[in-house]
Amino acid sequence: MGIGHESARLFDAATRLIPGGVNSPARAWARVGGNPRFIARGMGPKIWDVDGNEYIDYVCSWGALILGHCHPSVVSAAESAMRRGSSFGAPTAIETEAAQLVVKSVPSVEMVRFVNSGTEASMSAIRLARAATGRDLVLKFDGGYHGHDDALLVKAGSGVASFGIADSAGINSKLASDTLVAPYNDVDSVQSIFAAHSGQIACVIVEPIAGNMGVVPGDAVWLTALRELTSADGALLIFDEVISGFRVGASGAQGAYGINPDITCLGKIIGGGYPVGAYGASAELMQLVAPLGDMYQAGTLSGNPVAMAAGVATMREMSANGRYEVLSAKTALLADGVNAAVARTGAECVVNHVTGMLTLFFTPNPVTDMATASAADHAKFVAFFHSMLESGIYIPPSPYEAWFVSMAHRESDIECTVSAVEHALRVAT
Ligand code: PLP
Repeated sequence: MGIGHESARLFDAATRLIPGGVNSPARAWARVGGNPRFIARGMGPKIWDVDGNEYIDYVCSWGALILGHCHPSVVSAAESAMRRGSSFGAPTAIETEAAQLVVKSVPSVEMVRFVNSGTEASMSAIRLARAATGRDLVLKFDGGYHGHDDALLVKAGSGVASFGIADSAGINSKLASDTLVAPYNDVDSVQSIFAAHSGQIACVIVEPIAGNMGVVPGDAVWLTALRELTSADGALLIFDEVISGFRVGASGAQGAYGINPDITCLGKIIGGGYPVGAYGASAELMQLVAPLGDMYQAGTLSGNPVAMAAGVATMREMSANGRYEVLSAKTALLADGVNAAVARTGAECVVNHVTGMLTLFFTPNPVTDMATASAADHAKFVAFFHSMLESGIYIPPSPYEAWFVSMAHRESDIECTVSAVEHALRVAT
């Protein structure tokens, strides 16, 4: 399986008109080399490129497609919403239905505002924290990605890390200087930062299970310390659950750890593959949001009925009994298979996984933060990626990303993936 004529032709045309030929840098293959495949269609766990090559897909729209591609309930919900009208700029009933599902599932959320992307969710969450506290400083963690808002593009993971752009150009330096950064999973540094900036920090924003330096679960002791330190100082704790929300369980990472943040960011799965984000909090905090309060935030297409319908269908489908146990078992099957392949080949690799997501790091040492993630051998990852692709397995084209497992991945897909992993490990190491 090689790059076909049509992907090459389309990429050439795209690069003349769109920077790098892509509308989001993570889609480019700058890190692994070669031209991205152009995708023609998807169904269940599979995608087909424009040259007719078939792949088992572990990108799944970067985690949005927990049910896989074109799940019948999602297609039919979106289709029937579309037939009633695309968008009205006036309220629709489906927005309340979506809000009910979020509030019922996510323990700390009593009210929620839907936006159009995860970026908008985290940007608005920060604004809400500043509005509530009257403070400016934000603490984030090295390798945490929260979208491309100015205040948060400092030492970010995901595509920013993939391309070695530690801090993006074009960021207002006054804004960036209000962003403090600490290493992930390190209690001492957070304690020192709070001691040095007591009474000045509006919020701590964290991916409780990081997905943007590869999968790195937050340590429970550290997350508990974040909860305690923020509460003691009068700062707010924001869990960015744009990836982990409705993935690691219906109640997200906060349910899994039993820690309630003050504000939660959501995205991806709650839109069923359509553009959505959301931020939610206690009713008391959400009273600050316009039109109830003075914190302004708005959107022409926010709560778009087609996206809401797809999201509601997805959340409903995942709320049936035992769905997350099945997803957890599928992920464990993949992780066990990958670990066994690592052992058979003698490759020096570490597999981090939680329900619905996994990363294989080319390092013998535990990966617990951005420093240990960056210590992995990226040349080996490049060889591994291309071998996987040759075997018909489409994983994210960066060592700093998660492979997303969906409900549509069958045991046979996972077995096929594990054989490809073993072969790719032999090629790469
Ligand atoms: N927060 C996290 C944890 C993410 O992983 C992402 C995107 O991958 C975002 C926020 C930004 O979401 P979006 O790309 O929808 O703007």
